[in-house]
Amino acid sequence: SKRPYRWQRVLLKVSGEALAGDHTENIDPKITMAIAREVASVTKLGVEVAIVVGGGNIFRGASWAGCSGLDRSSADYIGMLATVMNAIFLQATMESIGIPTRVQTAFRMSEVAEPYIRRRAVRHLEKGRVVIFAAGTGNPFFTTDTAAALRCAEINAEVVLKATNVDGVYDADPRQNPNARLLETVSYNEVTTRDLSVMDMTAITLCQENNIPVVVFNLQKPGNIAKAIVGEKVGTFIGC
Ligand code: UDP
Repeated sequence: SKRPYRWQRVLLKVSGEALAGDHTENIDPKITMAIAREVASVTKLGVEVAIVVGGGNIFRGASWAGCSGLDRSSADYIGMLATVMNAIFLQATMESIGIPTRVQTAFRMSEVAEPYIRRRAVRHLEKGRVVIFAAGTGNPFFTTDTAAALRCAEINAEVVLKATNVDGVYDADPRQNPNARLLETVSYNEVTTRDLSVMDMTAITLCQENNIPVVVFNLQKPGNIAKAIVGEKVGTFIGC
């Protein structure tokens, strides 16, 4: 494979599940601190880091839609609000160790965070600040993986780094099949045709159409976030 890369600007996607870690609460503060420390170590090297946070640790629209009259769009707005909670938590952790961090939301919550303004986000990154994009794309029926692909393309980041609780992409479900193999490199087409459940179709297609590689890696392994951000070999590389 062509790795390792040397990224200049990355889009780190942290799912809600990853933020929860093994904690019984929604967020494991040890995880947010690990993310903050590792991000700090790479911003010192000059790598620009933008983050999209998920919300699945708190609320997933699709699983609540239909309950007691809750329509899908309303459920999804609750899901988007959940991502804002995670973003504020992560911002607080980052700033507690001295990383200047801005949260930008896809819909206005001006008392809480900046609205998403592309050029302003880029300016923050150029100044060495971390930008956390919250509230997904701002649209129901989408996911934060799609938000990650979209923001990555918008701010000209070079890669989507998808932090998860698994080591990468397998050729079968490792929880069900003990012979499942971790794949080092996968093409976009393989992800979609083999139904490798990396990201939803909208997200992976957006990456493919814009030639955005995706690295899927385990954030629970110490050092992995920093490795992924600087472009060292970690997890599974999706591209070509
Ligand atoms: N969501 C949405 N539009 C978006 C992004 C997210 O409606 O652009 C909602 C959706 O309900 C989703 C929830 O927010 O279930 C949490 O996001 P997601 O499931 O992507 O989080 P993750 O799986 O990364 O924790």
